[in-house]
This record gives sequence, C-alpha cells and structure tokens, in this order.
Amino acid sequence: MKKTASVKTRITIWYTSLMFVLTAVVLTAVGTLAYRLSIDNAEKGVTLQVTRICEKIGKHHQDIFKSVDNGKEFKNVSIYDAGGNYIAGQYVYDVAAIKFKEGAPRRETADGKEYIIYDVFRPFMPGKREGFWVRGAESLNSAMVFGRLATGVMIVFIPLILLLATLGGYFITKKAFLPVNSIIATAKHITAEGDMSERILIDPAAKHDELYDLSVTLNQMLAKTESLILREKQFTSDASHELRTPISVILAQGEYLLDIAENDKEKELAENIVQKAKQLSKLVSRLLLLARMDQNRQKLFKEKVNIGAAIDIAAENLRDAANKKHIMIFTDVPEEIVAEADEALLLSAITNLVSNAVKYGKEYGKVIVSAYKSGSKTEIAVEDDGIGISSENTDKIWERFYRADEARNDEFASCGLGLATVKGIAEMHGGSVEVKSTLGVGTRFVLRI
Ligand code: ADP
Repeated sequence: MKKTASVKTRITIWYTSLMFVLTAVVLTAVGTLAYRLSIDNAEKGVTLQVTRICEKIGKHHQDIFKSVDNGKEFKNVSIYDAGGNYIAGQYVYDVAAIKFKEGAPRRETADGKEYIIYDVFRPFMPGKREGFWVRGAESLNSAMVFGRLATGVMIVFIPLILLLATLGGYFITKKAFLPVNSIIATAKHITAEGDMSERILIDPAAKHDELYDLSVTLNQMLAKTESLILREKQFTSDASHELRTPISVILAQGEYLLDIAENDKEKELAENIVQKAKQLSKLVSRLLLLARMDQNRQKLFKEKVNIGAAIDIAAENLRDAANKKHIMIFTDVPEEIVAEADEALLLSAITNLVSNAVKYGKEYGKVIVSAYKSGSKTEIAVEDDGIGISSENTDKIWERFYRADEARNDEFASCGLGLATVKGIAEMHGGSVEVKSTLGVGTRFVLRI
C-alpha cells in the first residue's frame, strides 16, 4: 500500500501554504498601497507648499526675498528665473537640472532618484513672458521610507510568524491526534497477540472531543466483543464437558453391542456406532482442550520428556493406519534427546502430526519423524511424501475446522482441529510450529519447543 503523508503533516502543509499565499497577497496589497499613498502625499505636500509660496510672494515679485522666510518657508521649494537659474529657496542640485514644465505634479528621475516635481510659472506682468518659476520638489525616496520600513518589517516578521504558526499548528494537531496513535497501537496489538483484554489508553485529562468519544466508544465495543468471545468460549467448554458423559455411555454400550452381536449385520451396525462414538469423543476432547487453552485454564505439567520414546509411541499408535496404506514410518532421533514438556500434550501434538502425515501420505509412501536440538530448543520434524498443501492454503490449515476439500478423508475422521491443537500446544510451551509443503510432492512440519 502506498504510504501517504500523515493527516498532521497534510493539515500543517495546507494551512501553512494558505497562510503563505494570504501573507503574500497582504504584503503585495500593503506595499502597493503604501507606495500609492507615499506618491499621493508627496504630490499633495508639494502642491500645497508651492501654492502657499506663490500666495506669499503675491503679485509683487520684487519683494520675494522679504516676503518669504528663506529658511522654513522654502521647504522643498525653490525659485528660478525664466532661464532656469536658481534665485532663492531650497537648492537641490539634481532637481535644478530638470526641465521646467507647467501642469500637474509629475514624476521625474534625476541622477537615479525619483522626485515629484510641481512647476508654476509666475509672470512679472500678467500675460508677459518675463517672470520666474516656483518649483516644488519632493524626493520620493524619502517619501517612501514608511512603505519600505513596513515592507522590511514584514519581510523579517512574516517568515517568523509563518514558522511559529507552522510549528505551533503542527504540535497542536500532533497532540490532538495522540488518541489516534493509541487506537492504532491497540488495534495492532490485538491483531498480533489476539489479546481481547487490551484497551485504548485514554488520558483522563484529555479534552472531551470527537477523538476522545471515539476512543471511549471503541473501548466499549472491545469490552462487548471480549465478553461475547468469552461467552462463546465458555459455551464450547461447557458443551464439550456436557457431551463427554453421554458419548462415553454410547461408546461403552456400542462396544457391548459389538460383543453380543449375533450376526454380521448387527456387528456392522455396532462397529459403526463404536467408530462414530470414538470420533465424537476425540472431537469433544480436542474442543475441550482448545477451550481450556483459550481460557488459560489448561495446566502444563512439565517434566523431562524423552523425545525418542514419545516419537516411538506416536509411531506405534499410527502403525495400523499406516499399514493399511502401506506407508512405512521411519524415526530418526539421536539418543537421549530430552525436552522440558508436558508429556501428554506433547505426545498428542506429535501423534496429530504423524496421523496427518499418514492421512495425507500417498500409498506405499513413507513418513519420517526426526528430532534434533537447535540451540536451547528441541525440534521435531514430521515429513511425508503425500498430497502436499497448496501455498494459498498453508496459512489456513491452522484455523479451527479448516479442511482442504480435496484432502477430506472419511476413513480417518478429519475434523479440522488437529493443527489448531498442535499450534496451541506449541505456543503453551513457548514454541511454534511451521510447515513447508509442495503440492503433490510432500509436506514437512516442524514442531519447536
Ligand atoms: P484434519 O482433521 O482435517 O486433519 P488438521 O487441523 O489436522 O485437520 O489439518 C487441517 C488441514 O490441513 C487438513 O484438512 C489438510 O487439508 C491439511 N493437512 C494437514 N496435514 C497435512 C499433510 N501432512 N499433508 C497434506 N495436507 C495436510
């Protein structure tokens, strides 16, 4: 499955990008506005100053120097004669070089700097060509200081704010998503260990939000499921227990009938009853054992078990069945292999494996049972050259009541609980059981304890 970024990362990336776009839009808008305002202000300032100076000078230009206070009044304004020579006011070298032109305030560039220039021509006599120029000039560079300052501040602060927002947002979402991690961990643990008593950890101080509700609801669901499973296990256990006595009675009476049978027909009927009663008894014993193992009620009576002897007993138990199919059972166990185990359970597991090897072995084939030490563990291998198991079925054979259809064998009373029992016994001993098989070639089970 393709792994995508976590929800936390995606949320963080989403709103950081959004904030970035918004900030860029705001920054551009503020910058443009500041620029426009600076120009407007400069134009207004220059127009006002020039108009005021013109009014002060009045119609009587001769008194220009007297009527206008050279210092303060001439801020950004200077006066030139009709030929463009400086007469009075604030002298700005670059501005003096700009050509005079009547009209509205305009933008001019001189020596790389931008200015707002406003020129007004005042004739000495109305309608005459002789007169003087009043020029207002405001450097846009200084007018735009505010705009630049604002932009500079934003360039420094905005990445800082973005960084804080990203980190802050990430940690808040991470914290908010903590219950999800707990839910995932619990689900994984239950799947791996099958331990239905596991619950999602809920921080009592956590905010009662949707994720909190989800955790609480899932815990309630887990509790309900666990109680249903426990009830089902208890039912299997009780039912198997209750069935044992009647089955024993049927078996005993079937055997009695077999003894007193007077003709072939009666004998056949009695034999059938005995055989089915034995199958039922075996099924019920396995169900009971599995139920006990599920409820952790099956006790382990560990002792030193001679593995060679246990394998010999299992082989002997299956000798008749093997002979019927002309299968040879070989054992290969180095002397004195001893393992700490519950003898009865271990014997039952080995018998199950050998029984399967015979059941699914081919006629005139062979079954090899071997044992060896592997580190601190003892490995018991049961190998046959029978029908084998297809690779898609090797995982399913451990499930309860699973039987591969083509492998059904009524003569041997398959019930699909054998391997589930072997696995349970191996796990009770802190071990495992594995299978390697090739369809049509043979199968090898290894029980490790
Ligand atoms: P069953 O009572 O059906 O033998 P098991 O749990 O012992 O139940 O085995 C489950 C299934 O695994 C069997 O039905 C069979 O299909 C398959 N199986 C087990 N052992 C072997 C084997 N040695 N060779 C081929 N198939 C096997």
